[in-house]
Amino acid sequence: MTGAPVLERIPPCSGRAVELDTGDVLVVVDPMGQQVSDLTAFARDDLAEYLSSGRSIDYASRLLLTTGDTLYSNRSNPMFTILEDTCGRHDFTLTPCSKRMFELLYDEKEGRPGCEGNLAAALAPYGIGIDRIPVAFNIFMHVTYDGETGQVAVLPPLSGPGDFIRLRAEMPLVVAMTACSAGQSNNFSYKPIDFRIERA
Ligand SMILES: [Zn+2]
Repeated sequence: MTGAPVLERIPPCSGRAVELDTGDVLVVVDPMGQQVSDLTAFARDDLAEYLSSGRSIDYASRLLLTTGDTLYSNRSNPMFTILEDTCGRHDFTLTPCSKRMFELLYDEKEGRPGCEGNLAAALAPYGIGIDRIPVAFNIFMHVTYDGETGQVAVLPPLSGPGDFIRLRAEMPLVVAMTACSAGQSNNFSYKPIDFRIERA
């Protein structure tokens, strides 16, 4: 028997990678409210298999995924099941914020790595480079879509302090996640993200 899983903190504007075995549960917590965490995953048995936005949305027939939904890989294998979701609003359509995105959308010149760079840095020990970072499951990200035009808007997250999502790993995974660095996504306040792993 082991004790209660330790809550770990991802500092603002940074990323982490963790390994999960089948049945492990990853709990991602927004400790202060209105903070996004971009999450991506690769199969440890074959790192060419990755978490797929397109497959997951296709099989759910919905853009918005929550409790009971499955997140699939590019090979149509279940990677995660969402066991519990106290926020209920996440995005699975947009790519992680990036150095170039900050230049194009925010007119920033200082070259922050963004979630894309932070995910790639966390995954570097696995040989996964920046060009392999897919559309992420953007936990707590509040994106709206106009029903007529498809116009996309990024609004402040609906998450409050302590909101969390519980994801059960359906295969051995390496998972990378961030505390997102994009102003629009986090109501222009860069906060940490907490997580814990409930081992099977
Ligand atoms: Zn981001």
